[in-house]
Amino acid sequence: MLSFLLLQIRCSTFLRHIFQTMLTMLIETQEIGSLEIRESQKTVTLVINYVITSIRRIAALDSKASGKMGVRAVVYYMSTTIIAVLIGIIIVVIIHPGKGTKENMHREGKIVQVTAADAFLDLIRNMFPPNLVEACFKQFKTNYEKRMFKVDIPSNDTSTVAAIVSNVSEAVENLIQMKEEIVPVPGSVNGVNALGLVVFSISFGLVIGSMKEQGQALKDFFDSLNEAIMRLVALIMWYAPLGILFLIAGKIVEMEDMGVIGGQLAMYTVTVIIGLLIHAVIVLPLLYFLITRKNPWVFIGGLIQALVTALGTSSSSATLPVTFKCLEEINGVDKRVTRFVLPVGATINMDGTALYEALAAIFIAQVNNFDLNFGQIITISITATAASIGAAGIPQAGLVTMVIVLTSVGLPTDDITLIIAVDWFLDRLRTTTNVLGDSIGAGIVEHLSRHELKNRDAEMGNSVIEE
Ligand code: ASP
Repeated sequence: MLSFLLLQIRCSTFLRHIFQTMLTMLIETQEIGSLEIRESQKTVTLVINYVITSIRRIAALDSKASGKMGVRAVVYYMSTTIIAVLIGIIIVVIIHPGKGTKENMHREGKIVQVTAADAFLDLIRNMFPPNLVEACFKQFKTNYEKRMFKVDIPSNDTSTVAAIVSNVSEAVENLIQMKEEIVPVPGSVNGVNALGLVVFSISFGLVIGSMKEQGQALKDFFDSLNEAIMRLVALIMWYAPLGILFLIAGKIVEMEDMGVIGGQLAMYTVTVIIGLLIHAVIVLPLLYFLITRKNPWVFIGGLIQALVTALGTSSSSATLPVTFKCLEEINGVDKRVTRFVLPVGATINMDGTALYEALAAIFIAQVNNFDLNFGQIITISITATAASIGAAGIPQAGLVTMVIVLTSVGLPTDDITLIIAVDWFLDRLRTTTNVLGDSIGAGIVEHLSRHELKNRDAEMGNSVIEE
């Protein structure tokens, strides 16, 4: 009896989800032609790309080789992230872009106030979406059933057709109103529950990986799907630079119209650029040279395609297939290393994001004339590191996790709106730094693991890998 009841509940929940998904699709189709739908499609494409890549890469993990390599990768990730945070803090304290008051600054949009506990619990909830298909679409706050059927047809109404027409028009009205009720969901981008999809991809990949021969068909499927997407990306790459040029030019024109260029925001943008350049052009290449004794610029030259893709997509995860290609095919990094290091790196190793979060938080303190003491700066460093680990490799994820950093030292989370105007641009730059950090990490880990890799090759009777 009990199990029958449970089954009933499950079935009705399932049907409700299907119903909600269909309605969402209906609303999405009504929006065709608007920018909003194009934005959400872009995110869905990026997320699906991420899902496919993660599933196949994680399914291919070599657990024996992963032990020491994993430790090296984590040490590299943590140390470079901490260096990045320190650069961000030092540079923003020296340049001090937040002189003056925030009243002179333009605000974009409005941030909904949520408590840290709510945000954290929502984040956990969103890691396990009840319906995977639904997670790919915009999340709504409204209860569909209640809103759709709130008009009852009076039983004594003789004009049934009129009643139905009024009912349907009311329902359509409700649908139109619902569009305005999209609420930000922690771990989501443009309303798509990206975090839930990421957790699913990793779990699914792990399960396929553990299935040995039985999972082979699925592995082959995702491999071939990935290959098809790689070919598409290769085609798109040909006109990407032109697209990026027009995108940036268009945004600059828009910003000039709003009169936000100049002043603190411009200084803030320049400060972030200087910080990212120091990390990407000095620290990471130097680290690569000191550890491997090889020319870092030759290595970075082989990554150009991945770096341009990161600049164009603002997503380290969407760039992942190109990063694999550059590292494996151009720089000749061992596949056992890239397969292990890159998928994890793209999600948790974000030097650019960490640098940016610490810098932006201190900038917000400066425009509020809020004097940070040493303890608060340490708190910012720790939370910026944690927030960069928690940020997904998707556009503007860093902006969402900024809430954690600001809340930790009591800064107003509303003030994120001050920097939204330039985030479309800074996101591209920090994503490029993130991808560079992951790639240099793969090069360093390969160098440090060369003996184990050679031994394993010798054990398996394979030819010894080339230095
Ligand atoms: N867009 C960045 C990335 O994908 C994350 C961020 O927003 O900082 O790496």
